[in-house]
Amino acid sequence: MNMPEITDHLNGIIQVKITMSFPLRWVNSYLLPGPDGVTIVDPGPRTPGNEEEWKKAFAELGIGPADIRQIVLTHHHPDHLGCAGWLQEQSGCRVWMSERSYREAQLMWGPGSTMNRDLPALFRGHGMPEEWAGQLEAHLNGFIPQVTPIPEVAFIDANRPLAMGGRRWLPMETAGHAPGHLSFYHPETGHLLCGDAVLPQISPNVSLMPGSDPEPLQSFMRGLLKLKTLEVSTAYPGHRNPFTHFEERLEALLLHHEERLAKMERLLEEAPATGFGLCVSLFGTKLGIHQMRFAMCETLAHARELERRGRIESWTCEGGRVYFRLA
Ligand SMILES: [Zn+2]
Ligand SMILES: [Zn+2]
Repeated sequence: MNMPEITDHLNGIIQVKITMSFPLRWVNSYLLPGPDGVTIVDPGPRTPGNEEEWKKAFAELGIGPADIRQIVLTHHHPDHLGCAGWLQEQSGCRVWMSERSYREAQLMWGPGSTMNRDLPALFRGHGMPEEWAGQLEAHLNGFIPQVTPIPEVAFIDANRPLAMGGRRWLPMETAGHAPGHLSFYHPETGHLLCGDAVLPQISPNVSLMPGSDPEPLQSFMRGLLKLKTLEVSTAYPGHRNPFTHFEERLEALLLHHEERLAKMERLLEEAPATGFGLCVSLFGTKLGIHQMRFAMCETLAHARELERRGRIESWTCEGGRVYFRLA
């Protein structure tokens, strides 16, 4: 089994790279040791390999279950929340996340979740053929072992500082990538643990999901503007490596989404299209089901934003298929 790459940034933040699937390759867990124990931020997806990685990392760092004071989650995605319940079973520690994030975890994997049928139904309505839509239920069910057990959680009050590693961090709530997503800002140093709200090199996925945020792209862009008010010296993201060009990255992401919206409008100038038609024009079809799902959810998020801005409109044909055209 692999020893995960561990980087001590010598400022109270230890980065542990926990393996995950292509194309992200790893998720960053951050360990913040403090006088009252270690805080683990985003422990990564639960897989047998990752359990081994954690055992090796703890041995290397001289950490036992009793040293883990708490686990803090930026958001509910399996690559961040996954190991939290498993680590809680061993340590008995408290797991913190936002209440909104917890509701999203329940929507995705809670006992009454119907997402494995609602998402394919949404996609079929937007023109996704059966060869793709038919794969989704099994694909979504495949995440359940990665998030089992879902931890017992305490809710973070976004209006109050959270103590981690002997420092007081300000929770910053931004939606769009995930409803209720929290970043944690330490004003004295300008450190920001930003989860997937802002990533270097990668544009964080913005997904329209049934039963979730109905305007995710607007939420995401508002979140970027909110984060722009911070003075960030180093951002510690959920994927790739810590980076210092935070404000530049915010600008690039805002521009990227405006360009994507303009491109979608140009496609609809040529002819009306379904969501799936737009998705294929933008992303192609050489994608696995995982990437296709993200591409489709992101296409629908952009179409919704153009509708909100009054640039395009949608109508439903007989048989329930939705089309988009210029307004
Ligand atoms: Zn995420
Ligand atoms: Zn992630």
